[in-house]
Amino acid sequence: MNDSSVAANGIGMTSQRTRDRLITRLQEQGVRNFEVLEAIRSVPRHLFVDEALAHRAYEDTALPIGHNQTISQPFIVARMTELLVEGGPLERVLEIGTGSGYQTAILARFAKEVYSLERIKALQEKARKRLRDLRIHNVILRYADGSVGLEEMAPFDGILAAAAPAEVPPELLQQLAIGGRLVIPIGEQDQKLYRITRTEEGFQREFIEHVRFVPFRSGLR
Ligand code: SAH
Repeated sequence: MNDSSVAANGIGMTSQRTRDRLITRLQEQGVRNFEVLEAIRSVPRHLFVDEALAHRAYEDTALPIGHNQTISQPFIVARMTELLVEGGPLERVLEIGTGSGYQTAILARFAKEVYSLERIKALQEKARKRLRDLRIHNVILRYADGSVGLEEMAPFDGILAAAAPAEVPPELLQQLAIGGRLVIPIGEQDQKLYRITRTEEGFQREFIEHVRFVPFRSGLR
């Protein structure tokens, strides 16, 4: 999309220049993976928030999406995607917390199939429409509590949690393939992002950085 077609849509602030500025910022913050940066550049984040917030979509910040939830900050989406992608090829990926569907759309570019679980029906329905409008077809959305993962589709090469539980749900570890990676924020006040890789011998846990996510909750809404 060029600047004039964007202006024709009445949302000039979503222009290529605004997006390029975001990419520069992500690079300055240490995102190195070229394909991840390209994915962030080309997925239209302004379509994943309400129109009233579209002008802020290319700021590097989380934004409200209703129901006390947020669309994740672009930096964290880029970082988590990079952490999953670095570890090897991704055939089947599980995401917990579809939310707006933005991270899902990014993951869809790197995996053959993305299963994404969401416990708030209204958010899931909006996400489904957006992904359909963008013709992203390798994504399967499920209205489900992600605390127990998705046993029937396991094992996964990658699992990404977009909400923070107090402890790692053991089911998610069990649903990783050998070599598979779980990227997950853990904790309540003081949250830490981890990448946990399943090896032949067990699990290898790497601390990545301090983060701030919405809480992981059980049950459906
Ligand atoms: N990546 C999403 C983040 C949304 S916020 C985005 O960028 O839009 C996290 C989401 O996780 C919320 O929509 C919340 O409802 C969902 N969530 C929290 N706990 C969950 C659980 N146990 N199972 C499924 N979804 C959950």
